[in-house]
Amino acid sequence: MFRDNPSPVEMNVADAQANSQDEAENRKPFYLRDSSTREEIETQISILSPTEREEYGELESTVSEQFVAAYGQFLNEEQKEYWLERQMIYTAPELAHAFVENWKTDVDAIDPETSNIEGRIFESYEIGTVDTTHQGTPISTPTHHLLAGRFIMHPILPEPSRGVSVQWLSRGTDPRTNVDVNESEEDVKRRWENLRSYRRTNSTGTMIIHEKVHGIQDLALPLPALEAAAYYYERDMAERCGWDHKLFGNTDKLADLYNEFVQKIGGDAHRLIFGNVTDQRQQSELVAHLKKIFTLDTIAQASSWNEDDRWPEPRKHIRWQSISVAEAGQRLKRNQTHS
Ligand SMILES: [Zn+2]
Repeated sequence: MFRDNPSPVEMNVADAQANSQDEAENRKPFYLRDSSTREEIETQISILSPTEREEYGELESTVSEQFVAAYGQFLNEEQKEYWLERQMIYTAPELAHAFVENWKTDVDAIDPETSNIEGRIFESYEIGTVDTTHQGTPISTPTHHLLAGRFIMHPILPEPSRGVSVQWLSRGTDPRTNVDVNESEEDVKRRWENLRSYRRTNSTGTMIIHEKVHGIQDLALPLPALEAAAYYYERDMAERCGWDHKLFGNTDKLADLYNEFVQKIGGDAHRLIFGNVTDQRQQSELVAHLKKIFTLDTIAQASSWNEDDRWPEPRKHIRWQSISVAEAGQRLKRNQTHS
């Protein structure tokens, strides 16, 4: 590790790493030992009615079982259990944010060596627009799916007919197809209600895949790769299972980057992202491969809006917040002193 003339980045990595040893345990995603804890919290803060909770729960079980059928061979037993149990809680945005703020520190420990891409450590991201009408000031909205580590808080707005149902989880059930021209007014009304359930079912189902993937990832890996992978698996599962789902512009490009990694590496790509490569040397080699694909350059390219973008105008881009390895080292030191 120590050569004669270590570069500033290497020195900072070594320094930060020494401080992060104790944090290693914290990087592991947390699983609840007793699932009744989630149920208790859900009862207290869920914005869904008991019937809706059943429907959302059934949806979660269905898409989760399909994920385990597709990727179970790359998961350990604990991770499979995590997938087959319910993790989602749907609550009001303020509560979701408060919960995640509270728990974020449990899971945001970073591994400076593994996390950094060319000396930068990515901490968070927002999807937003470049609004040139306001003197070029970018307007960004924070991403709204929130992972608190032990389970997933999904902010949801109060709204009538927000029900989902697994019966709509397929492109073939799109209420816009096979429309009878002689339909009655009642039929028209029902069809539009169905359309709403159909869209919500498919977008919620894929969101569940995305967030539960985060729940079992090796959080020491660079954030852009973790996000790209989460988008990749939601896209992949939709394709495999025939759900109606399309990623937009830059998240699609990010997923493509991870797809490049999967194409090159095969099954070990999944093992790496889910933290199941036990051989240290193989792990380092795979991380090196990953960083050949996820460079500062390719991440920037994928993140800015592009011609394939299907977002409605104005077009959105991904804004990453990153810090240098040196700053990360300082922060870890500070956290240690204060904890
Ligand atoms: Zn994500």
